Amino acid sequence: MASVTGPEIERLIQLLAKLPGLGPRSARRAALHLIKKREQLLAPLGEAMRVAAERIVVCGTCGNVDTADPCAVCADPRREETILVVVEDVSDLWALERAQVIKARYHVLGGTLSALDGVGPKDLNLDRLVARVAGGGVKEVILALNATVDGQTTAHYVTDLLTPHGVSVTRLAHGVPVGGELEYLDEGTLAAALRQRTAL
Ligand code: ZN
Repeated sequence: MASVTGPEIERLIQLLAKLPGLGPRSARRAALHLIKKREQLLAPLGEAMRVAAERIVVCGTCGNVDTADPCAVCADPRREETILVVVEDVSDLWALERAQVIKARYHVLGGTLSALDGVGPKDLNLDRLVARVAGGGVKEVILALNATVDGQTTAHYVTDLLTPHGVSVTRLAHGVPVGGELEYLDEGTLAAALRQRTAL
């Protein structure tokens, strides 16, 4: 089938199709939408992306992304200095910040240990984490890792790594989600919720 669009538009579609959540069909729809909204959307988006590509850096302290190093989170003096929240990815840091439940500092690991994918301790931002904890001032490390096998393997590894430095290592509770109904939960979630039951 002959292509109905030129190479420039095809390139735009191909790049959009690489975004999470966008398949080839939705990338085509998104590209067409951008092209139709050339002045309001396509041009400003292109400019915003150019600026982002030029100025965004990874924070040398926590691994967050920002236009400054240290990042805005690390540089914020109103945050609790004694609590460090360890997350797998920047998206997790953003999710916790959106929830506005804790005003602490973060540490982004950049993934989880995975024998299957060949991810070892050296591939994660662990040396920097140990250095931050060993540097003093941190009293509690909260492991806000995913409730996956790899997430939990990583949690155990990080706990063993940090415990000798005299910090309290805690992790998120696993269980029934707020508003969740028992009959719809999977066995793993139900079992974890029962194991980690709390007194009323
Ligand atoms: Zn930072």
